[in-house]
Amino acid sequence: MTTRGLVYAEAGTRPRVEEITLDDPGAHEVVVRVEACGVCHTDLHVVETDGWGMGFPILLGHEGAGVVEEVGPDVTIVAPGDRVVIAWRAPCGDSCRACKRGDQRRCSNNLRARRRMHRAADGALLNAVLRCGTFADRVIVHEACAVKIPDALPAEQACLLACGFSTGAGAALWSTPVQAGSSVAVIGCGGVGLAVVQGARLAGATTIVAVDVLDDKLELARELGATHAVHAENSVADVKELTDGGVDYAFSAITAVAGLRDAVRMCAYAGIATLVGVPPPGRTLDVDAELDLFQPKVGIAVTHGGDTIPQQDFPFLANAALEGKLDLQRFVTSTIALEDVPDALEALHTPTGVRTVALL
Ligand SMILES: [Zn+2]
Ligand SMILES: [Zn+2]
Repeated sequence: MTTRGLVYAEAGTRPRVEEITLDDPGAHEVVVRVEACGVCHTDLHVVETDGWGMGFPILLGHEGAGVVEEVGPDVTIVAPGDRVVIAWRAPCGDSCRACKRGDQRRCSNNLRARRRMHRAADGALLNAVLRCGTFADRVIVHEACAVKIPDALPAEQACLLACGFSTGAGAALWSTPVQAGSSVAVIGCGGVGLAVVQGARLAGATTIVAVDVLDDKLELARELGATHAVHAENSVADVKELTDGGVDYAFSAITAVAGLRDAVRMCAYAGIATLVGVPPPGRTLDVDAELDLFQPKVGIAVTHGGDTIPQQDFPFLANAALEGKLDLQRFVTSTIALEDVPDALEALHTPTGVRTVALL
């Protein structure tokens, strides 16, 4: 089968839309007709790090949603015509040490399809970003990565569940489950930070303090559920004053490691600071082990993509959105064509909205 995809051919080149070919799906694999794919930082990271350790050529995209078009042998979870979100995490369920004890959120052995997509020009096997490659009209994924969601959720909203939104909301719902009635601080109100705000609100947090350097992002955070907003400068003192000595949960959704340090220092007694944003390598956390951690009994946690179990969590989030408990619509700032994705990736350096979504 011949289709189109956004290919990053070699280091230093600009990604281009090219013809790609798909083999037939193998056992437990499905072909998905992609309808929408969000423009996420990880694809920019792949381009800017000369492939992020993957071999070339690379098929970009990992925040996709669409419709199952064809299934390989032994597929039982989905059928042609099902609307799905494509997960980049799919717990093995039974073979890693975490899954064997029933803890799929800590699975270290995700199920993946074999590589079956090629450049049409020379037949070279493509490496797909996070084994998704959803900046393409059609992709082959493992059936466990194809997560059925209700038809009523528009594709441009559904695709956000594949990465950015689930990372933020999942941090507050599953990585560090926020208790109802608690207080939360969210450092950084980009797309992921705003999703933390939404997850904390859904979890029943009664105080949610948004922290950012930009006033318009703080305003958006308020509209999406933050009860207070403070400017990043002097934020530790401001958050402590607003929350009677600190918050129960603080999330750092920025890449600067100072965000995690501030999150630790914003916590009240027995609070937990969670690292959501990926820091660059080589950074060291500046905290006092006795004064910042032991005495106030503050813990540090890390989330990987919200630690979701996609087959149960994506439908939960989709239904919450359809019931009006989450506002996915506000996260879609603009929609573009596949050809415009390279420009949109570069525009991530100076983001003006929450999320740009390519419609295929
Ligand atoms: Zn596992
Ligand atoms: Zn992503």
